[in-house]
Amino acid sequence: MGEKTERAYCRTCEAPVLATKQKPAHVLHLLLTLVTLGVWLIVWIVLTLIASMKSYRCPTCGDRTVPYTRKLRKEFEARGRTREARF
Ligand SMILES: [Zn+2]
Repeated sequence: MGEKTERAYCRTCEAPVLATKQKPAHVLHLLLTLVTLGVWLIVWIVLTLIASMKSYRCPTCGDRTVPYTRKLRKEFEARGRTREARF
């Protein structure tokens, strides 16, 4: 399993964070697909679909994050917070 990161907003921490989510180890799955003459491709596809449905998590509290939209950025800046140190 690898890890994907994305800039997102954590409603629990009330701050923008660099959120993470797990992604399949595609190189390993490619090798397994070749070794099993394509049979492993089914497992690879299922795991990739499951991983794509999972949401990004806050690295601080572990809660789900939401996309860091322009609206959220304005709200955050309006509160005068400067907790963007995690970037
Ligand atoms: Zn958080």
